[in-house]
Amino acid sequence: MIRQELLCQVRGAESGYSQSQNSREGEKAVSEMNKRWVLASRPEGAPSMENFRFEEAARPQAGEGEVACRTLYLSLDPYMRGRMSAAKSYAAPVAIGEVMTAGTVGVVEESKASGLEPGDVVVAMGGWQSHWTASAKAVKKVNPDAAPLSTRLGILGMPGQTAYCGLMEIGKPKAGETLVVAAASGAVGSVVGQLAKKKGLRAVGVAGGPEKCRVVTEEFGFDACVDHRSPDLDAELAAACPDGIDVYFENVSGRVFTAVFPLLNDFARIPVCGIISHYNDTSLPEGPDRVPALMGAILRKRLTFRGFIVWDLSHLHAEADRNLETWVADGSLSYREDMVEGLEQAPEAFMGLLQGKNLGKLVVHVSDR
Ligand code: NDP
Repeated sequence: MIRQELLCQVRGAESGYSQSQNSREGEKAVSEMNKRWVLASRPEGAPSMENFRFEEAARPQAGEGEVACRTLYLSLDPYMRGRMSAAKSYAAPVAIGEVMTAGTVGVVEESKASGLEPGDVVVAMGGWQSHWTASAKAVKKVNPDAAPLSTRLGILGMPGQTAYCGLMEIGKPKAGETLVVAAASGAVGSVVGQLAKKKGLRAVGVAGGPEKCRVVTEEFGFDACVDHRSPDLDAELAAACPDGIDVYFENVSGRVFTAVFPLLNDFARIPVCGIISHYNDTSLPEGPDRVPALMGAILRKRLTFRGFIVWDLSHLHAEADRNLETWVADGSLSYREDMVEGLEQAPEAFMGLLQGKNLGKLVVHVSDR
């Protein structure tokens, strides 16, 4: 259904994709091209299909020291909303007409780099496209038999590292404490809560809707999960945290942070990982000036807020990879994937991510190995 809707929208955009649907010859021609989504315009508020354009281009060839790869899986992540904007941030924006940025798992089809052969499976920033090239230094070769390949974009990839490193370095979890994390059924949040449980904390999730809350407690083993759409969010979160909150892993901000804030204990740690509820904002909300209350609490309760980007904590990446791989293999860490079929669905799926439509790590299956 979604696929059909998307095809209609792509046709409406007069993309090369739609022009090749009617003949076998056309399909063959498409398969030999690089299919890609580029940024057509910058969104004001929530992104829409008009901000993306589907294109076909010649497949890129490997230069000296490079590999040419075909995408197997494409990762869709909240940070991409920031790259669509020209606002100053920690990374440069995607330029208009440029391929949308993304982590990918790919198979090497051509290699002019020592140590990499056709057939090798690699992880790299391939972007929203079916074929790409990268220098050997920019790809990470993975053992295709160690774990399902798509997990390299989730629990065994950047989101898993984010959860592990942010929690251990900034959250400093201690047995007996209480941790709260929002977007708790998602790629980062689900790992944060499970790691907290492993460390002996009480783990409380916040998620959107009863089904997500069920998954968080029943599949990920959190002690409790509260629905952020509930009109009684403040009271329900307080009831789920009878001893207050020692670690709040911030993924969302907004209403969830407002509910968390009065429950923070003295010396609480707040790794600020993401603020997804604000990514589509175009201005600051109206309302009372909360700065005095926030600064007063930081002082009185001696709170530690620290923002981080996963690459800031690279000294912990090897430890994170080792532990996460071990715990996924022995079954003591669970994960969920929300797998979308076909590159053409990427914009629709990405827009859904910003509305909470995904359940688990959002991945696009682009081609088979
Ligand atoms: P998820 O898989 O958790 O998907 C995003 C989820 O965010 C949605 O499913 C939804 O869950 C929630 N959400 C979306 N919009 C809102 C909203 N308006 N209010 C409340 N919740 C909302 O994504 P990730 O795990 O990949 O990312 C989680 C956070 O971590 C993001 O903020 C992201 O930017 C950040 N991040 C930061 C990194 C860093 O280096 N600092 C690296 C990776 C991620 P629900 O329906 O449950 O609310």
